[in-house]
Amino acid sequence: MSFDVQKIREDFPILKRSVNGYPLVYLDNAATSQKPQEVIDCIVAYYSTYNANIHRGVHTLSQEATEAYEEARKKIQKHFHIQYPEEVIFTSGTTHGINLVANGFSSLLNEGDEILVSAMEHHSNIVPWQMLCERTGAILKVIPMNEKGELVMEVFENLLTEKTQLVFVNHVSNALGTINPIEEIIQKSHKVGAAVLIDGAQSCAHIKPNLQTLDADFYVASAHKMCGPTGVGMLYGKKEWLEKLPPYQGGGEMIKEVTFEKTTYAGLPHKFEAGTPNIAGGIAFGAAIDYLHKIGFEAIANYENELLEYATSELLKIKGLKIYGTSKKKTSVISFNLEGIHPFDIGTIVDKLGIAVRTGHHCAQPIMDFYKIPGTVRASFSFYNTKEEVDRLVKAVQKAQMMLS
Ligand SMILES: *Cc1c(COP(=O)(O)O)cnc(C)c1O
Repeated sequence: MSFDVQKIREDFPILKRSVNGYPLVYLDNAATSQKPQEVIDCIVAYYSTYNANIHRGVHTLSQEATEAYEEARKKIQKHFHIQYPEEVIFTSGTTHGINLVANGFSSLLNEGDEILVSAMEHHSNIVPWQMLCERTGAILKVIPMNEKGELVMEVFENLLTEKTQLVFVNHVSNALGTINPIEEIIQKSHKVGAAVLIDGAQSCAHIKPNLQTLDADFYVASAHKMCGPTGVGMLYGKKEWLEKLPPYQGGGEMIKEVTFEKTTYAGLPHKFEAGTPNIAGGIAFGAAIDYLHKIGFEAIANYENELLEYATSELLKIKGLKIYGTSKKKTSVISFNLEGIHPFDIGTIVDKLGIAVRTGHHCAQPIMDFYKIPGTVRASFSFYNTKEEVDRLVKAVQKAQMMLS
């Protein structure tokens, strides 16, 4: 079956708009993806036909909303190959999920315990661990990367000791596109008894993981990176871990019984879901997963790979253009700079031509420090982008180069 990108583009109303007089070319998918009509309709349907609070009322609307929300949880469970639905915690996104786990470990870590993070983490996977170290006296150590933007696995193995309690690494780097060898990282970490959290925020739109065979202890993702709405995400944790961790926030929905002397907590997953959640968002997260399944993750990966190869070779034809992140295993992210030109200036000029790319440090300053650059231009492709759009990017970058040098 051939991949009909033009047909797919019709599912995304935003792709019809123009920017600064040009048809929009949206190449900032690593920051957030666009939403298909089905997902938008799902949100509208919730608010216009069965908006009610969940898990509380006996009335019909509340039952319908609860059912739809729990149905979405099951879709997430199935999609990520998770054993039990109660191992799926709804969050407001990846950042929330990481903070929930980091907070929970405050009471489990001792002074001198060690935490490993990779050199290519998003700030949201660095700062919560630094805060955790401050609270507990644990020590943060960094798994370094090489010039290609790959983790140096020999150093990682040397860093692993019986002191290592936790290892945190993203499946895919949002700034470089590198796909990290998480299977190996998980396996080796478990040998010394360390728990592993995988940040799937950047991979979830491209790779469908099997969390049961992967054997990660925790996995986090954001719906908005996979065609779903903002403000909702998921945390997977192995049941044993989620039972061990204390609740993150107190409030309604997370309790079994409350008196002023003592409160007992609700069971999983409600223990971690205090307060009224993003109900419409959760339901639409499920709709986004349904949509992606209709296209198929294998088809998505094949097509995006094709785009990546085409864009890489076309961009490299531009003299003075350097790509950061040249690992063999990459998703469709290209971070680059033009010699002697600030990335911000390129971003501004290509925007005038209707093209949306990201410029800056992409919430990964340590990577920029490693390459000794202020930032990069990042073009990140989704399955609804086309080769014609790549051509337009290349032309626009050439034009920017001419204007700026
Ligand atoms: C986007 C992203 C995050 C943060 O996700 P939020 O949805 O902003 O919480 C974390 N890590 C990586 C690798 C990302 O790409």
